[in-house]
Amino acid sequence: MGTVTSDDYASVSRAALSGGTTCFIDFVNPGRDENPLDAIARWDERSAGCSACDFSYHIAISRWDDVVERQLREIVSAGITSFKIYLAYKGTLALTDTELFRALELAAELNVLTAVHCENAALVDILQQRLLAEGKCGPEWHYWSRPPIVETLGVQHATTFAELAGASIYIVHTSCADSLRVAMDAKLRGVNVSVETCIQYLLLDKQYAEGPGFNAAKYILSPPLREKGNQDALWAAVRDGFINTVATDHAPTNFGTQKSAGRDDFTKITNGLPGVEDRVNLLYTYGVLKDRISLERLVDIASTQPARLFGLYPRKGAIAVGSDADLVVYDPEYDGIISAETQMTNVDYNPYEGWSISGRPDVVTVRGEIVVENGAFVGDPVRGRFLKREKCE
Ligand SMILES: [Zn+2]
Repeated sequence: MGTVTSDDYASVSRAALSGGTTCFIDFVNPGRDENPLDAIARWDERSAGCSACDFSYHIAISRWDDVVERQLREIVSAGITSFKIYLAYKGTLALTDTELFRALELAAELNVLTAVHCENAALVDILQQRLLAEGKCGPEWHYWSRPPIVETLGVQHATTFAELAGASIYIVHTSCADSLRVAMDAKLRGVNVSVETCIQYLLLDKQYAEGPGFNAAKYILSPPLREKGNQDALWAAVRDGFINTVATDHAPTNFGTQKSAGRDDFTKITNGLPGVEDRVNLLYTYGVLKDRISLERLVDIASTQPARLFGLYPRKGAIAVGSDADLVVYDPEYDGIISAETQMTNVDYNPYEGWSISGRPDVVTVRGEIVVENGAFVGDPVRGRFLKREKCE
């Protein structure tokens, strides 16, 4: 959408590893007129020989025709076994309903999991135009262009289409109790739906994106940060297993040079937050130590479940004979402060600046080789390999 993340594979992979995440799946987003295989070739140029940890791709579907369908079959055979579909982002990434249905039918036929970003694109567009026409241009209005009801409708839409197409879907970045409830309702009807939330929705709320001043742009992402009351529902769902994974949707862009492009128009603020470096430490400090989740649950939602859902288990997500020795030895005695000054993520701020953490990875290995020790990256910076994945469970 007109810019690139401030992280590249070199910086993000080191940031992930230092924070105790040993593998990630990136989104390959083809342009509307770009064929999926060309987009993958473009991503390969950025990733090949550049990552310290293993990685894979989700292939986003940005239009539907015979060429796209043929190439998607090829892509799935090559081990990219999950699709990403955006209901949001009118004019760039959003699919029409007919395209959405065709894509889900193919996903069902090929037995791949479809990750769906659930915000209704038309409503977001209408609300954005209305707010701008009323002179409401600051970052604090971003929330009102995508209120919970717009996400809830998106989840209703996606789960209904999945039900009729017989497809399995994975609701990404679930931000609030209302949309979670709709996803649960679909699950109870027998729709094969899994749910992701992200660490920022568990810990940050709408107030961060309201100011003071343009500083709020640091907290602009979609779906937006919600009213604090939603966090209790999300934590309960993480604890009880209704939410399957806690991810990051790691999408760093610099405040000074990139997010500032939206100084006079919130719709031009780059969307997304960094998070991959802090996810596990935040889950431990503010989840486990606050008695919101057990240590076992942390391991499950941060590692085992993602590996299972996305066809990497038991190669990843398990400590067992034959599995990759991607290990995190965690030091629960460590006390530290999160800061952009000391992070490995390549971005000029940290949304959790000044937050204390109790615990961090002490030693991290990638396939048996030590890559992080005492918080420092000490490993082979290009040890990471692209992972061909199995069909999803
Ligand atoms: Zn998304």
